[in-house]
Amino acid sequence: MKDIEIAQKCTMEPIGEVAKRAGLTEDEIDQYGKYKAKISLPLKDHEPTKRKLVLVTAINPTPAGEGKSTVTVGLADAMQLRNKKTMIALREPSLGPVMGMKGGATGGGYSQVVPMEDINLHFTGDMHALTAANNTLAALIDNHIHQGNQLGIDQRRVIWKRVVDINDRALRHVVVGLGGPTSGVPREDGFDITVASELMAIICLAKDIADLKNRIGRIVIGYTFDRQPVTVDQLGVTGAIAVLLKDAIKPNLVQTLAHTPAVIHGGPFANIAHGCNSVFATKTCLDLADYTITEAGFGADLGAEKFLDIKAPVLGKTPDAVVIVATVRALKMNGGVSKKELDAENVAAVEQGYANLRKHVQNMQRYGLPVLVALNRFVQDTDAELQKIQELCEQDGTKAFVCDVWAKGGNGALELADAVVEACDKKTEFKPLYGSDDEVEVKIEKIVREIYGGDGVEFGPKAKKQLVQFHKLGWDKLPVCMAKTQFSLSDDASLLGAPTGFTIHVREFVPKLGAGFLVALTGNVLTMPGLPKVPAAMGINLTDEGVIEGLY
Ligand code: ADP
Repeated sequence: MKDIEIAQKCTMEPIGEVAKRAGLTEDEIDQYGKYKAKISLPLKDHEPTKRKLVLVTAINPTPAGEGKSTVTVGLADAMQLRNKKTMIALREPSLGPVMGMKGGATGGGYSQVVPMEDINLHFTGDMHALTAANNTLAALIDNHIHQGNQLGIDQRRVIWKRVVDINDRALRHVVVGLGGPTSGVPREDGFDITVASELMAIICLAKDIADLKNRIGRIVIGYTFDRQPVTVDQLGVTGAIAVLLKDAIKPNLVQTLAHTPAVIHGGPFANIAHGCNSVFATKTCLDLADYTITEAGFGADLGAEKFLDIKAPVLGKTPDAVVIVATVRALKMNGGVSKKELDAENVAAVEQGYANLRKHVQNMQRYGLPVLVALNRFVQDTDAELQKIQELCEQDGTKAFVCDVWAKGGNGALELADAVVEACDKKTEFKPLYGSDDEVEVKIEKIVREIYGGDGVEFGPKAKKQLVQFHKLGWDKLPVCMAKTQFSLSDDASLLGAPTGFTIHVREFVPKLGAGFLVALTGNVLTMPGLPKVPAAMGINLTDEGVIEGLY
């Protein structure tokens, strides 16, 4: 049965009941229909006894699929079956992958969050609000230039782009302001996908409304003719942009198929942005539940690194345990098997591809965190292949658990749940990768050498020029958000396994002063993806009875 058919058969609990079980009062939620609610912050007087945080991450993704969200949901349902008060914090899906190629972000099989169609489509409107707020700011910038340009903004140096939440390669580079003197000042512009917008990062990192406004005010939208940065505060529109985000900053409450409360909020991609759900969402779960299971996007080199180096300092909490999701299929691909040959047993390829899993395990252990491996079982996997990974993990001192959450829901991860509870009770000492005082070059060097396993970093001519400017402006100690391919530990998507002897190429930076980090663009990663030859949209339909089909 398809994910959507399983989800459509589920009898959901009214969201008020889910909220009550999570410990929320009626006043603390705003219902969006029967099965969705926004949570009003700040929450007061909730004191869970444990406050444990579990981060689910993965090996580098392959076209074979890994199933992080599926395992996150299944693990939380398993914890619930063990009578542990558990909540889930996940990101909200972008329409880009939904219509493109990736599939949903709501889990799969019998481990899903529902209502999956709503969550994967317009949900509670957060993406639209972000798109509107982002483009309002773009319109205000162009209007400022048109109306006399009091601030002296150099129209060739505006860095604030417009956004749309669809993979639309045709909008990567555009010219705005055409049509004569009444239609604005012509300049080159471009679109990013909404999830790459700085405002998305801001709603994911803000601690409260005051912090939200401070961050919006600090955004650098471009530079003057004498190369001085121009901020949103200088434009005088911070309040207006904050107003447009008034509801989008509130986390959304839904449930799993097994009615475990789930908070879904904020959706930056992990390759071109910071890849984690909002601080508001994770903190809400921590304030309500004993165990919060959360997920960071793509592989542990991207999502988890950014969770630990960018999000955790703002959240004020590091994970108590890390679960790394791997699959036999993905390890086989890392071991050189093509997608067509994945169904045949190949223990040798699994063994070869294990290098990728080992590197991610070591990386997470480097932060001083207890690590468990979740082997997300696919029906084609053989016992010999699964056992081989367990053996290899055992030899390296890690425990790997076969999880069958896609087929069995929470019952497929009870052993993993017990191990997670045990791991969370251990005392850990978090070892950050870099110090907040390290300069940006040092931070990148540490990420490249210690996390990616590379030899070093090479800055292109534009990046070099920008670094000089950052040192002058005092931006040289900000955290770094690497924009890198998700498919490899290197910046070359074709280098699978655990490559060594490579250099990372930083071609350009995008300073995001509101988010509080510098984005380093590596390789040829793009902040506006394109659609594939056969986009998922071609299989999606609305029946005459109003039923949605084909959202996988
Ligand atoms: P990720 O979070 O790593 O992107 P998801 O959990 O969203 O992955 O899963 C992606 C797709 O793979 C979903 O459509 C899901 O149904 C499918 N999937 C996940 N795990 C399994 C499994 N064990 N067997 C079959 N399909 C699976």
